[in-house]
Amino acid sequence: MTMTDRPTPRFGDRGDHLLLTPGPLTTSARTRSAMLKDWGSWDGDFRALTAEMRGRLLHLAGADEQYDCVPLQGSGSYAVEAALAMATRCEETVLVLMNGHYGKRAARILELIGRKVVTLDKGDYMPPRADETAEILRQRPDIDTVFLVHCETSSGILNPLAELSQCVRQAGKSLIIDTVSSLGGIPLDLASLQADAIISSSNKCIEGVPGFGFVLARRTMLENAKEHAHSLALDLYDQWDYMNRTGQFRFTPPTHVIAAFLEALRQHEEEGGTSARYQRYAGNRDILVSGLRDLGLVTLLEDEWLSPIITTFLSPDDPAYSFEALYEGMKSRGFIIYPGKLTQAESFRIGCIGQVFAADMQAVVAAVAASFQDMGVTRMLPASIRE
Ligand SMILES: *Cc1c(COP(=O)(O)O)cnc(C)c1O
Repeated sequence: MTMTDRPTPRFGDRGDHLLLTPGPLTTSARTRSAMLKDWGSWDGDFRALTAEMRGRLLHLAGADEQYDCVPLQGSGSYAVEAALAMATRCEETVLVLMNGHYGKRAARILELIGRKVVTLDKGDYMPPRADETAEILRQRPDIDTVFLVHCETSSGILNPLAELSQCVRQAGKSLIIDTVSSLGGIPLDLASLQADAIISSSNKCIEGVPGFGFVLARRTMLENAKEHAHSLALDLYDQWDYMNRTGQFRFTPPTHVIAAFLEALRQHEEEGGTSARYQRYAGNRDILVSGLRDLGLVTLLEDEWLSPIITTFLSPDDPAYSFEALYEGMKSRGFIIYPGKLTQAESFRIGCIGQVFAADMQAVVAAVAASFQDMGVTRMLPASIRE
């Protein structure tokens, strides 16, 4: 097949590639347009944007007046680090439920900032369950805080949030959840979940551009965190306290990113909120998964654990296959995909979030089929289940 035989690539609304990556992702023209104006960080107009954004985030997460929202410059990991430091004391023991890259990163952060870490490590793709978590909490009464990742983006697994939060609550421990890749795309109600803090960022399911993260935390937890910070720039208490006193960020805010994010929040609401977005993303995933399974590919996870955020497919066990060739084949057809992030098996990932719709997903399936045909890949089964 030559370049000219290829179907016309389906590019985004400005002729860009569609990003099938879980952030940065494909944003709307309206969101990007909101960045075409300069804002003074000190000015009342920008302070009003910041205040509206914080209020909208609390509303989106179903938070009641017990909670407040603290935005922080940087990517999601900056907010994760700031939240972990805020929520725990020096020398405190924290249980990290881990089944992938982002759980590992949280454990590493906690070690670096002088907290003691106990892990429940389920490997690449098994979910942590309530019974084993309860058992650890019973054996280790010194644990005060539990951290878990809602959607572990490294495999795409959707961890069982309701059962885990109930178990942590019953044990009377505080609960911090990394909802970076799920907030706004998977229904979550903070008031009924009763987590102490959740973390997310601008460039995932709310479909903003990258540049900051935010923490929704209990006010009582924030009030008690005055002495907890290990870092000046990542001091979430100080960020919160200063913002509540002045309406401003402590240091230079990502003004354009926040203006774009507020526009993205308005579109999230207009689309029908998190439940509508969940439907769209789940629909994208269903087209993707059934289409690629029809080609003979195998998902890493069983259906029960597949998130609507990103799906991991095991690499075909065919000598003609390479991720690089698949990547280039998809890129030439208008799609940017993601490499796998498993320690055990070769894989690739395709995201379902962002300004991506059913027709795009159908085109993605056709592009994968065409890319494999170009490469001469015929055997789609992965090595691990080769008969
Ligand atoms: C994206 C993501 C983060 C933050 O990653 P950054 O690269 O720092 O934005 C944290 N946790 C999860 C689960 C994520 O998907």
